[in-house]
Amino acid sequence: MNVGIKDHDDCFFCDSKPETIEHLFWYCDQIFPLWNALAHWIRSVTEIEIEFSLESVLLGYTNCMPCKNAINCIILVVKFFIYKCKMEGRNPDFAGIQSYLKFNYNIEKFACDFAHQDKILSKWKPMKKLFCQ
Ligand SMILES: [Zn+2]
Repeated sequence: MNVGIKDHDDCFFCDSKPETIEHLFWYCDQIFPLWNALAHWIRSVTEIEIEFSLESVLLGYTNCMPCKNAINCIILVVKFFIYKCKMEGRNPDFAGIQSYLKFNYNIEKFACDFAHQDKILSKWKPMKKLFCQ
C-alpha cells in the first residue's frame, strides 16, 4: 500500500526504497532505530518491557499488559509525528518524539475535566514518569 502524496514512489526519509506503509513506519533505516530508542527509553524510565514490532506498530499492541492502552496511544502519537515530519519535509528524531509525546500527554491532562482527571489519566499511571521528569 502506498502512502505517498508526492509524485514519486521512493521513501521521503531515506529516498532509497518504495514508500509503503510498512516501510514508512517500520522498515525505513531512518525510522526503525527510533522504535528501539523508544522501547529503551520506556524501559529505562519505567522498567516496562515493550517489544515493538511491525504488527504492533501497524495494528496496535495486543499483549495483555495493564498499560496496553497507553502503549497504543504512544504508537499512534509516534506514527502521527512521523507523518507530520514527512509533511513538514524533515526527518524525525528521538528528541522530537519525546517532546511530542510529552506535549500530547499534557494536552490530554489539561483537556480533561479536573474532577475526573485521575480516572481519565489512569491509563498513563505506569508511564507517568516518562512525562513528568
Ligand atoms: Zn525510507
